[in-house]
Amino acid sequence: MKFKLLFVFVIAYIFVSFGWLTFSLLNFSNKEYSSQLQILEVGKQACILRLIEMSKNDEFNSPNAIDIRFKQAEIEADTSLLNKFFSNYNYGVYQASYSRVDSFYELDITIRPGQLADLELTLNNRIRLYLFQAFLLFILVGLGVYGVYYSVQMIYRLNKQQNNFLLSVTHELKTPIASMKLLLQTIRSRALSDEKRNELLDKSVMNADRLNELTENMLTAMQIENDNYQYGKESFSLTDMMENLADSYKMRVDLSARIEDDVNVLGDRFILRISINNLLENAIKYGNDSPIEVELKTKDKKALIFVKDQGIGIEDQERKKIFKKFYRVEDEEVRDTKGTGLGLFIVKETIEKHKGSIKIISNEPKGTIFRIELPLYIKNE
Ligand code: ADP
Repeated sequence: MKFKLLFVFVIAYIFVSFGWLTFSLLNFSNKEYSSQLQILEVGKQACILRLIEMSKNDEFNSPNAIDIRFKQAEIEADTSLLNKFFSNYNYGVYQASYSRVDSFYELDITIRPGQLADLELTLNNRIRLYLFQAFLLFILVGLGVYGVYYSVQMIYRLNKQQNNFLLSVTHELKTPIASMKLLLQTIRSRALSDEKRNELLDKSVMNADRLNELTENMLTAMQIENDNYQYGKESFSLTDMMENLADSYKMRVDLSARIEDDVNVLGDRFILRISINNLLENAIKYGNDSPIEVELKTKDKKALIFVKDQGIGIEDQERKKIFKKFYRVEDEEVRDTKGTGLGLFIVKETIEKHKGSIKIISNEPKGTIFRIELPLYIKNE
């Protein structure tokens, strides 16, 4: 919150300072324009005074036209029609006029129009340049500030995710260890029937399996992240793997499976099993005890795997993010479940390494479908 406020303050400061700078530059240009106009005006006045003086000295008697140029000020006074020039001084202003024999004309002394247009063009060009520069600088600095903001947010989010990760890992390790300890202590301290003892031992093994799965996931994620994981390349039966997985889950949850025969792929059996296992674990965790469906079929030389649940579903805007390392949806329902945010990271990396793709589809009426596509291994091809 504080950081956001600081960010808004910095943006506002930049906006105001650039606005002020641009305003000053524009103001400066306007002043320069006015002072150049004034110089031209002064030149014009000087020109008028000079004509008045000439008229006093009777210098207009020459039959030739007199062309007066004040070069420095670019003033032109065309006196080719001038016959007689006289002046009077009226309310502190000189009036310069000339008369021909038969009629009376005001003497027209003008600043060259081209000169005025040039001045105006320079002013407009400058205004455009300053505005453009201000816009460009604002955009660049804005992008810079946004970049810093984004990076800080990223670091903040990563930090938070890593803290969450540590918390959940500790929790995930502690729970099975604690229950295993309790189970084993019960076995040791009580006289139990064989049946009861076996039941407690089975539960201990399940807890050990859970620990094993967690450490395997962490290890694999670390190896993938450091590019250390050596992907195996053998052809194997996806049908067998899926049937095996489905059978083991059928004991725990309501799971139905439709598995096509003789579907083979090329790749790393171990990590593909971990990946599909992660999807099944998620279907249980976020499935709200709904039935789970698994499907394996083939289409256009592709093996298609579907894992469907009818649980809490995944919002559209979360669908890309959940494949990121440590990412967990910040949802009350999700926060209550255990997890490290590594499962889907492993799944996506694995599927892509196998030249396949993974897609999330909304299940109807609710829940999630994960659809995996893998190239089929066809013998003798
Ligand atoms: P974990 O389950 O350990 O949190 P994952 O990487 O497996 O980590 O999943 C990341 C996040 O994606 C989960 O925290 C959850 O929010 C969401 N998610 C994954 N699978 C499902 C699902 N089947 N239904 C709803 N949300 C899911």
